[in-house]
Amino acid sequence: MNTYLHLAGVRRLTAPCFALATTLTFAVGLWAGCKEVGQRGPAPGVPSRTAPDIVAPPDKARPAETGPAWRPGYKRPPVIDFHGHIMPSGLGALSTVMRDNGLRHMVNLSGRSQGRGLEVSVKVKEVFTEITHFYNPAWRERSTPQFGAREAAKLDEAVRKYGFRGLKISKALGLYLTTADTSRIPVDWPELDPLWTKAGELGVPVAIHTGDPKAFWLPVNADNERYDELKSHPSWSFHGPEFPSRETLLAERNRVIARHPRTTFVCVHFGGNPEDLDAVDRLLSTYPNAMVDTAARLGEIGRHPPERVRRFFIKHKTRIVFGTDIGMSRRGLMLGSSGDDPPKMKDVKPFYDAHWRFFEGSETKIAHPTPIQGNWTIDAANLPEDVLDHLYFKNAQRLLTPRLTPATTPPP
Ligand SMILES: [Zn+2]
Repeated sequence: MNTYLHLAGVRRLTAPCFALATTLTFAVGLWAGCKEVGQRGPAPGVPSRTAPDIVAPPDKARPAETGPAWRPGYKRPPVIDFHGHIMPSGLGALSTVMRDNGLRHMVNLSGRSQGRGLEVSVKVKEVFTEITHFYNPAWRERSTPQFGAREAAKLDEAVRKYGFRGLKISKALGLYLTTADTSRIPVDWPELDPLWTKAGELGVPVAIHTGDPKAFWLPVNADNERYDELKSHPSWSFHGPEFPSRETLLAERNRVIARHPRTTFVCVHFGGNPEDLDAVDRLLSTYPNAMVDTAARLGEIGRHPPERVRRFFIKHKTRIVFGTDIGMSRRGLMLGSSGDDPPKMKDVKPFYDAHWRFFEGSETKIAHPTPIQGNWTIDAANLPEDVLDHLYFKNAQRLLTPRLTPATTPPP
């Protein structure tokens, strides 16, 4: 209760008008959705099969304003940021960030699990309706019997009872997690099969982080193009025989995707392989249940020839979701990555603007949106409006609309 009141207080202090407008939009959307299917609304504790109208389609009839400098006349639709890490301690800045950058909805991939923060996430959602949470497995219990089956049951509860809309798997799986006998747990650990199956049964996506920039597997020295970032995060270096190769990890992930064709996997950070567009093309072409997000990888995507990037986004327009990897917590902000000098609020708009300029414009030599990730520039992709609509909201809206199948066992 105290947490709830505290959050409500934060909300009132930050942006009352925006909060009211958002709440009304959400309520009207929910009412409209229920009316359409002739219902009074979902039974208590059971999510509606027709999700509330998270993002209204852009009003094409409205005259475009002058639009951004890099694309005069363009009117950006409301945007879903599919890749955020929003801690309760960082909520004070959320409304301002969303309002100032035209975000309609934020996916918090760090929703936690039962007894480890999920309950606070539920309270957050009651106040900040523009957030959707993803469930995180309780890896600490991985050595206990029936771990995978129990996690599947907990995901079921998180979705059906608490309104979570996905499962997030961090790169710890495959890189850091070990079994009781200290052997590495591979991404395709059979123990987790019930969890992947459950996500498919619930119709919620799995956002999975496997693979990282190639430089993370190279020696950490001044010749490494991510030296600044690796100096700040030594645990992100996977150079050495004790680590599996990138190729091994990505192959393990692909086997999971192949084994679970009814489950949608959003392979975050552009499939964990943004330096190799052909490989990401193969991923999306081979597995109809695979998708990617753009989070924190504009630096890599924008290094390819813009015409090639444009063709890629057009070809896979229904398979790519917009995400930034924005983080908000008591430690401050994270904008795609973080270093010794954390970003400030004044840095957030230029960060989002760099994304808009990259996807919408046709400029060359745009400054890297996250400087600690590299000192090169990127060239804009100049995407068609229909592709931008899919990237910014249509694909994410589809993913966040649950397609619940009847529970085989009653939810707890
Ligand atoms: Zn992330």
